Amino acid sequence: MPDDRPDLVEALHASGLVQRTVTDHSDAPLTDREAAPLGSIVTLGGAVTVGGVDFGLIAGPCAVESYEQMSASASLVKAGGGVALRGGAFKPRSSPYSFQGLKDEGLRILSKIGAESGLPVVTEVVDAATVELVAEHADVLQIGTRNAQNFTLLQAVGEIGKPVVLKRGFGCTVGEWLQAAEYVLAAGNPDVVLCERGIRSFEPATRFTLDLSAVAVVKHLSHLPVIVDPSHGTGHRHLVKPLALAAAAVGADGLLVDIHPEPTAALCDGKQALDRDSWLDLTGTLSGVLASLGRNLTVPAAEPVGAGA
Ligand code: PEP
Ligand code: MN
Repeated sequence: MPDDRPDLVEALHASGLVQRTVTDHSDAPLTDREAAPLGSIVTLGGAVTVGGVDFGLIAGPCAVESYEQMSASASLVKAGGGVALRGGAFKPRSSPYSFQGLKDEGLRILSKIGAESGLPVVTEVVDAATVELVAEHADVLQIGTRNAQNFTLLQAVGEIGKPVVLKRGFGCTVGEWLQAAEYVLAAGNPDVVLCERGIRSFEPATRFTLDLSAVAVVKHLSHLPVIVDPSHGTGHRHLVKPLALAAAAVGADGLLVDIHPEPTAALCDGKQALDRDSWLDLTGTLSGVLASLGRNLTVPAAEPVGAGA
């Protein structure tokens, strides 16, 4: 709608035929905060919410490696108060000689563990041709940084009707990231969670440069929930906790964290994965930070030694 015709907007609403109007001064009208000034809440797996007062903690290994590894990971997620389990079955690796993921077998493991644990499962979909297959096994579809501007893929996940975690392209501006989200919403899927995971800069001390200012910028510009991935953003285990706490403080709606029952044996990104102790240390501190911010993170009592993991 043109924003200089309030009379027209009023008439459309009075007709009873129009529920919502969006002004066209924005490049991304569907993701613009004006479209939902109070902020959107996205439900994962029909059960848990990200956005609003609840802080969504999603965790798991970079890659699905085996049933046992995912089962142990699900126990860790629950012990730390996580709401969903992540794990890649299709891995977009920089080198063709690196572990590429278990693919279909990884999806089967993921959905089995999801059913057994009750945790919604989040996994990456790397091309439009496999969107249906991945959506049959996963509750949430992740678009990785390397595919953040694969517009055919964005349209395909927009049509499939499952929640999407949309990572920021490591070379994308905030505006380009929001327009990528706009593709998903324009295709009919309102359930998008944005994920800041670091951008490329001149700084080699961290794997990428986690742009926490983008969280505040996006919260101002858009109604979509924003989570932060401090694992891929930093590439180093010891940096995950400080950046995770900073993400919560800057207003993120959740985290996507790499954890692994045995990080030194991980087939992918072990250096940035938290083990059980560092994960529980993070979530314990995080729950205090969130409480002071008036947000919720429920941390269940620690499991008995030997259970799960
Ligand atoms: C991942 O989360 O497993 C991943 C590959 O992340 P990114 O796309 O941010 O590199
Ligand atoms: Mn990874």
